Amino acid sequence: MKTIGLIGGMSWESTITYYQLINEGVKDALGGLHSAKILLYSVDFFEVEALMSSGEWDKAAALLGGVAARLESAGADMILICTNTLHKVAPQVQARIHVPLVHIAEAAAERLQERGVTRVGLLGTKYTMTQEFYRDKLVERGIDVLIPEGDDIDLVNRVIFEELCLGVVKEESRAEYLRVIESLQQRGAQGILLGCTELGLIVSDKDVTLPLFDTTEIHANKALMLALA
Ligand code: GLU
Repeated sequence: MKTIGLIGGMSWESTITYYQLINEGVKDALGGLHSAKILLYSVDFFEVEALMSSGEWDKAAALLGGVAARLESAGADMILICTNTLHKVAPQVQARIHVPLVHIAEAAAERLQERGVTRVGLLGTKYTMTQEFYRDKLVERGIDVLIPEGDDIDLVNRVIFEELCLGVVKEESRAEYLRVIESLQQRGAQGILLGCTELGLIVSDKDVTLPLFDTTEIHANKALMLALA
């Protein structure tokens, strides 16, 4: 079994899910007392969020690149950045290490392709929904990407940073998310990509009629498959 290096803490609410899913996967595959070999470096999200909101992406890249290099020297065979948004600096992080960086959007695109989805509704932070670094990974694989319109971009983004990353799940925000999903469905989305690692905390399959693709589960599962290969 290979060792999985996780850069977590963005937010720690979703890092818990990664840790749990990967360990459950190893237990299911190998049985008995088996558990995953994981190196976790959990950052202070306050510092990272400040760099994102001030547009200091080079500093964010240096910070995460340094963490990735430390995980590699500690013995990680692969590295995961446990958030969608910070994949904006994935190329700079990959350049700092010799082991593979398992890209969350590439894993998501692969899963969507396997399921025959050619038009997906994307929910995530404003960075993930509106910038090219994420969308391009889907478009490269022939998947059309729909995002919320107008004020709904801010709404979806605000709930992530002001509620979900703090572990707060409000019924009224869930209702708003379901309204946004419904409108993406009406515009032709065949599925919804939960392109933020906290979104599984607020919407689940039982809430909607179209398939949900949760990037936390997809990313964790990709690492699991690579670790056990
Ligand atoms: N974890 C979220 C994501 O997957 C949002 C928080 C962050 O910006 O890291 O994008």
